[in-house]
Amino acid sequence: CGITACIGTADSVDPLMSGLRRLEYRGYDSAGIAVNGPNGLSLTKRVGEVSELATAVEQNPLDGTFGIGHTRWATHGGVTNENAHPHTDEAGRIAVVHNGIIGNFQSLRTELEADGHVFASETDTEVVPHLIEANLRDGATPEEAFRAAVGRLSGTYALAAIIGDEEVIYATRSGSPLVLGVGDGEFFLASDVPAFIPYTDRVVYLHDGDYVVTTREGYTITDAAGRPVERSVETVDWDP
Ligand code: GLU
Repeated sequence: CGITACIGTADSVDPLMSGLRRLEYRGYDSAGIAVNGPNGLSLTKRVGEVSELATAVEQNPLDGTFGIGHTRWATHGGVTNENAHPHTDEAGRIAVVHNGIIGNFQSLRTELEADGHVFASETDTEVVPHLIEANLRDGATPEEAFRAAVGRLSGTYALAAIIGDEEVIYATRSGSPLVLGVGDGEFFLASDVPAFIPYTDRVVYLHDGDYVVTTREGYTITDAAGRPVERSVETVDWDP
């Protein structure tokens, strides 16, 4: 299973797809990407190999300047297209990819359903976009909405999210791997360094509890309370 994300690159589909191919060694049963740009959020996800996702994307090209991708190893919910990631809110404006297990998803889902949310999958993950959406509706900014949603989760997670039309990627980790790739006006997130090594060899190894907010201009890393944390950028010596 794996996560990819990119922002600031000339095109988002190629880095996301090549990243997913380079994470195939981690094992998976389904794959998907969501990209955003002037035409809004578009998403494709499929049971099966990354090559099948690539064929689907070739047939129906996606258009976006930033995006997130995922290879899934199902833990909650069968291996179906609906359960593949990214997951969205009902309006399809918030997209989330997740590696790990959200232990308290059932109680969160029950709460959200009582509040009128309609779920499209059987996954633990889908509570996250719905929580973000509920927080936005309560007046939170996208960053506040992301942090407050993550604050409700217990379990293990690496998460990356796109929220509305803002050209920003939000990410965090706790118990699942996530690294940040630092390019020149382009930034990447992935479960492991090989995903973005064709694009940059400069890496920030994130720690559990780190929150990353990245735009094409740069990134911030903070703790759960919003305080900045210092993480060094390391240059790695990997073959592209
Ligand atoms: N628990 C999530 C699911 O079953 C994520 C699994 C993964 O890490 O790929 O969809």
